[in-house]
Amino acid sequence: MKRIVGPLLQWYETNARTLPWRQDPTPYHVWISEIMLQQTRVEAVKEYYRRFLDRLPTVEALAQADEDQLMKLWQGLGYYNRARNLQKAARMIQEEYQGHFPREYEELLKLPGIGEYTAGAIASMAFGKPVPAVDGNVYRIYTRLKADASDITRGPVRQRIRQEIQEIVPEKEAGAFNQAWMDLGALVCLPNGAPHCSSCPLASCCRAACQGNPQAYPVKPAKKERRQEERTVLLLEYQGKYLLQKRPDQGLLAGLWEFPSQEGRLGLGQLQDMLSEWDAQEDEIELLGKGKHVFSHVEWHMLGYLIHLRKLPDALREETWSTPEEMQEIYSIPSAFRRYYQKIQPGKLQ
Ligand code: SF4
Repeated sequence: MKRIVGPLLQWYETNARTLPWRQDPTPYHVWISEIMLQQTRVEAVKEYYRRFLDRLPTVEALAQADEDQLMKLWQGLGYYNRARNLQKAARMIQEEYQGHFPREYEELLKLPGIGEYTAGAIASMAFGKPVPAVDGNVYRIYTRLKADASDITRGPVRQRIRQEIQEIVPEKEAGAFNQAWMDLGALVCLPNGAPHCSSCPLASCCRAACQGNPQAYPVKPAKKERRQEERTVLLLEYQGKYLLQKRPDQGLLAGLWEFPSQEGRLGLGQLQDMLSEWDAQEDEIELLGKGKHVFSHVEWHMLGYLIHLRKLPDALREETWSTPEEMQEIYSIPSAFRRYYQKIQPGKLQ
């Protein structure tokens, strides 16, 4: 493995991507960008990163942010626990580290939401510590280089690979080394589609490329089937405001705002029965069509209705009613509802 270090660093010198968080790699910048980049494409993260830093430029500002503001800044990125953990960690840095980011890998690991990869990225990129940052890119490139058919979802396999990478981290260029894997994985040794082996700096020592089957690696077991759920989403409108409900504090999309929904797909007749039970009188019901959202373990298959109410039912009087402008500014509505949200906020970022 030692043989790859030189060519990898040389390649990175001329091929590194220009990314906003690389211009000034403070621990805060590296941290926020790395957490955002989990499960989200680089191009999509850029605008979120800019807005986040604009509103919450320091650990202190993040620690003091209002929850709704934080959720609003995260709206559309999904996996909202990441944002909650960012704030918990920011508060811990303020309280236990007097506002100074811990510099050591082991200390970073104690912060909420920071695992081995993120701790490695911050320690190496912001503090120059010789530790690896091993993510999906590294597992993929490593298993291809060695034609290693081990199941990379297994803990011991991941630990072994991490250990091998740890042994070749260059003492003085750990940040560049770790970012080189990221960029090689994003630009050359691609996760989906054929890797560009002919332009890869590591091709001469890559077993999978020699065997002609790089896409056979990494080996992962078949994924479990996701649970399928049908839901009917109701956009209830009264005098220009829409009914919103806050989701429970635990579980899927915890604590976020949503349009009310019911399990199952209600037909028009069932919907009208439900409205009469609420003593709600409608002027017009508009069918908004089907929508689908895929979470990691469940898929929602939705059917949406826009219901213009003539009279506000007593049962819903004390609920939260929001104008489209307030939805844009205050309430964080998960992207699962994007299709319906855009009916009342055409073209707005979600
Ligand atoms: S030679 Fe091909 S398969 Fe091997 S590391 Fe490079 S891009 Fe990936």
